[in-house]
Amino acid sequence: MDSKTEAEINKKFKNALNKLVLLDYDGTLVNLTATPEKAKLTREITEIIRKLISLPGMEIFIITGRSHDDIDKFLDHIPINIIAEHGAIIKENGQWKTREQKSDLWKQSVIPIMNQITDACPGSFIEEKIYSLAWHYRNAESDAGYKSSRELIRILSEIIGNHDLKILDGNKVVEILSDSIGKGRAVKRLYEQNIYDFILSIGDDTTDEEMFEYFQNHSNAYTIKVGEGETFAKFKLNDISEVVSLLKKMSV
Ligand SMILES: [Mg+2]
Repeated sequence: MDSKTEAEINKKFKNALNKLVLLDYDGTLVNLTATPEKAKLTREITEIIRKLISLPGMEIFIITGRSHDDIDKFLDHIPINIIAEHGAIIKENGQWKTREQKSDLWKQSVIPIMNQITDACPGSFIEEKIYSLAWHYRNAESDAGYKSSRELIRILSEIIGNHDLKILDGNKVVEILSDSIGKGRAVKRLYEQNIYDFILSIGDDTTDEEMFEYFQNHSNAYTIKVGEGETFAKFKLNDISEVVSLLKKMSV
């Protein structure tokens, strides 16, 4: 993103009456760390977010694939709204609410498969969320982790055919979840509830593409992909420090 675009975003933001800001967490506000527990917001970003929250006409959400318990640990010191587990559960005004009831019986057939892959790939681990199962390989040896992830995707692809399930091939994580859950649907729901004259959505991973795609034809929406790769986003930033720099300018 060039400085002209950045200035334009900032100007539109300042002039807008109803603003919606959607920020992914890992890889967007904090670095992907070996232990997810360490992925805390820096003091600088915390302050920037506090300032953004306090601006008039502002609705700001952290939108993440993390479990709600997990993300709450990092954000409980800030009065911010959160969409967790790719949209399965949402925190507004301090209250967590599950969007809809879904079956998770499919987990029983997926867990043994994930266990097998985990056993064969030291360092990898399984995380269970309300409506999803995630297999993380960021702590595994890189080649072995990648190879096992392809194997897991291959096996899961064969079994999801008859179920309402999808596979997310994320950054060092393979996740399986209900097909009707996703960041795209989550932001659609928000967008339809209110009228916004400015939308900013920032993310770094494949799961963020759903929201970028949803906002593709909205002229008031600025979508930003962090890092390399093909994207539906209209703009790109290189790394977290550039995200922080943009948000900082918006916050003052
Ligand atoms: Mg991310």
